[in-house]
Amino acid sequence: MPIRVLSQEVAAKIAAGEVVERPASVVKELVENAIDAGATYVHIEVRQGGRRLIRVADDGCGIPSAEVELAFARHATSKLQSIEDLTHIATLGFRGEALASIAAVSHVTLLTRARDQEAGVRLRVEGSRVVRHEQVGHPGGTTISVENLFYNVPARLKFLRQDATERRHIDRLVSRYAMAYPHLRFSLENDGRLAFRSPGSGSLYDVLIEVYGLEAAQSMIELAGPGDADERGIRISGYVSQPSAHRANRDQISLFVNGRWVQDRGLTFAVEQAYHTLLPANRHPLAVLQIWLPPEALDVNVHPTKSEVKFQRRDAVFRAVQRSAREALIAQAPIPEANSSSLTWDGGGWRSRHDMLVGAGATQAAMELGRPPGAQGTQPWLLGAGPQSVERLPPLRVLGQLGQTYIIAEGPEGMYLVDQHAAHERVLYEKLVSSQANADVPVQVLLEPLTVELTLTQTEELGTWLAPLHRLGFEVEPFGGNTVLVRSVPVILARTDIRQALVSILDELAAEEEPLADEVDALLAAAACKRGAVKAGQTLSLEEMQALIAALEGSTMPRTCPHGRPTMVLLSQAWMEREFGRR
Ligand code: ADP
Ligand code: MG
Repeated sequence: MPIRVLSQEVAAKIAAGEVVERPASVVKELVENAIDAGATYVHIEVRQGGRRLIRVADDGCGIPSAEVELAFARHATSKLQSIEDLTHIATLGFRGEALASIAAVSHVTLLTRARDQEAGVRLRVEGSRVVRHEQVGHPGGTTISVENLFYNVPARLKFLRQDATERRHIDRLVSRYAMAYPHLRFSLENDGRLAFRSPGSGSLYDVLIEVYGLEAAQSMIELAGPGDADERGIRISGYVSQPSAHRANRDQISLFVNGRWVQDRGLTFAVEQAYHTLLPANRHPLAVLQIWLPPEALDVNVHPTKSEVKFQRRDAVFRAVQRSAREALIAQAPIPEANSSSLTWDGGGWRSRHDMLVGAGATQAAMELGRPPGAQGTQPWLLGAGPQSVERLPPLRVLGQLGQTYIIAEGPEGMYLVDQHAAHERVLYEKLVSSQANADVPVQVLLEPLTVELTLTQTEELGTWLAPLHRLGFEVEPFGGNTVLVRSVPVILARTDIRQALVSILDELAAEEEPLADEVDALLAAAACKRGAVKAGQTLSLEEMQALIAALEGSTMPRTCPHGRPTMVLLSQAWMEREFGRR
């Protein structure tokens, strides 16, 4: 093909792709414009995960009628004139690309009135073309409606996820901006239902209550800031979670640099570093951090979505984040009890512990056995299992426990170190998957229903997983807002902190990218077993270890946990002989 200059229309669509990746990107740009316009409230309305409609209304300065069409031109902005302005930019926008990009791939209606003007304007733009421009009455501020996103970009449309997934991205985004701007009132309406609201009181703590729920917010630790800037002009304020309230993924670490939400692996890592040795493996804290530094120490013009920044002194920012989080943690976190018995076991004697270990906890008198109504038989699908192979273990003789974490056992080939948590996960998992398939998961009905406060995201997550959760033995019903009532749980979770278990299962599911229908039950079972299994750090008696090893010997795939990690390592006779120079 000869070289040709692309038509304006094609070029516009390609450029739009950099800014508008999914509905949440549209929400982000429109919300940033509202904030830049000095709004005190921002109302966001979303239909069908944003693919049908995204509407953002603000009470900001509005756009003068003479400029409304210009606002949709590429590289048209009121926020920047010269390239020098970039070094001290105080607004979220500056590239003049968002409205042009959005209008290239959707149907946009703009309704606006500038504060000092009599009449407002309504402008309709369809795929970059202005199709209507009229005077209308309007109370002031700006409302932009974006309909039929990607109607003319089939490739993008194909990549959109389920409505629920797109909605989740939007939920998170809106909560983040609400946290970054606590003095603004945000509200989010999903398919006609008010999903989120922030009071606009100016207090970040008030927003945290809305985002994470009262309990989680109360447990968070405020950083010493917003005190003075350090010698480099870096100032950090915000909240971090106590080490006891951790999550399955890093999604709940939100970072804002000069009021801009940024995604930065390095800084996220700095936050995690502050928790060094305080969190269990593979668990992550919650954190909301505002980082302020002189605008000239920052380059915000890194990417069209503006969600990355470059720091002049990256290491200094990194250290400041780590230090302030660590100081807050050390100053305020309660010292964990040396011998924490809060985990899986709460008394109950050897008999019940033995039952727990072999996954037969249902025999206890206090438990009512039930079958989740409507449960259907599904194919057991073993996580991480290739073709189902039976690879039985040789008989093992338990010798003892190492570091309250590993079981030492002897077998015909040598010495085995068995990870007690991974092994127990495997045992519970196989039992659970087969009882899911037979729809006879042992269920613990709670004597008193438990109310659990969820976050908006977790509520969304619960909505999409209700049926499989039910098959697993969770009976959960809405209790107004983001609070739910738990009536029953799978028996394997009966002795854990049920709130924490439900919340972390939901968080873990949130990290999944839409699993196939036939994986769902297995995924859930694996998530539940992770919570229900005996932890590292728990002392086990010889009988308990023997029971666990016997149950493991009976498993179909005893050598890996449901997540694919090994349950045991073998120190073979041959290896020992070599090491001791016997050969
Ligand atoms: P940028 O935000 O980078 O300037 P945009 O394409 O997002 O570029 O917006 C173009 C211009 O339209 C802005 O510079 C601003 O002047 C105007 N504008 C957009 N949204 C609003 C709004 N909600 N209120 C007032 N003015 C707005
Ligand atoms: Mg903008």
